[in-house]
Amino acid sequence: MDCPDCGAATIAFEIPGELREDVPGEEPTAALCRRCLGLHPTPEVEASAEPDFTVVSDAFPQGEDEGTIAMVLAVGLLDSFALYRREIEALIERVERAGTDPLLVLDRLADDPGTEPTVDLRRRRRHLEETLE
Ligand SMILES: [Zn+2]
Repeated sequence: MDCPDCGAATIAFEIPGELREDVPGEEPTAALCRRCLGLHPTPEVEASAEPDFTVVSDAFPQGEDEGTIAMVLAVGLLDSFALYRREIEALIERVERAGTDPLLVLDRLADDPGTEPTVDLRRRRRHLEETLE
């Protein structure tokens, strides 16, 4: 599936059951755009059981564990920070519990010339930092 917003390739993945409560909507799968980092519903058949998010950016942790997918979902929801603040906070907590520094990931994403995020990652990072304190 290509991104409905910018037309770039996406990476489709399954949302682990324990994360679904922290994600809006009922879909068990989602797709992250490799260019604009938008999150989109995707047909279940396209989802990879072992997605490699480092093809999107080296900023993402390697592997497909719960922490990595929580980080990907949080980034995808940052576009609607005010609306999904509770979900984003819950996801970010999971990222931290998995041993990844979510703010560092956002810094590295913002510095990655291979992506063109539609959201202002540095601004969102500041918001996030305030909510984590
Ligand atoms: Zn896109």
